[in-house]
Amino acid sequence: MVEANHDDCIFCRIARGELGTPFVAESEQAVAFRDLHPQAPTHILIVPKRHLGALRDLGPEDAALAFDLLRMASDVARQEGLLDGGYRVITNDGQDAGQTVHHLHFHLLGGKRLHEPLG
Ligand code: AMP
Repeated sequence: MVEANHDDCIFCRIARGELGTPFVAESEQAVAFRDLHPQAPTHILIVPKRHLGALRDLGPEDAALAFDLLRMASDVARQEGLLDGGYRVITNDGQDAGQTVHHLHFHLLGGKRLHEPLG
């Protein structure tokens, strides 16, 4: 669900530059920054600047944004030298997936042989 007020949303605040978090990539619609608790040698979050609660909130009008987010994931993977070894992109939507930050984000993971099943 898209919330009305995002003043307290941590990823909105990061995307607005309020916390001084360094960006590894930025476009008109999205930013990428390193996860605070990395689960792999490279663990980067790809985040839309506009507040969307989760993947379920992405609509047909967001086609360009969806492309921007996924394209940023592969661009950052290249930038981080992950193309040879490979990488994984995942998003958690809702309780069963373990979503903890309710602002849409894609995890980019790489730099080691990732565990199966996912994560
Ligand atoms: P999820 O469990 O999919 O909602 O993922 C949320 C991710 O955000 C976790 O991997 C956290 O480590 C990460 N995280 C939470 N707060 C911050 C922050 N201030 N800066 C960077 N990463 C964060």
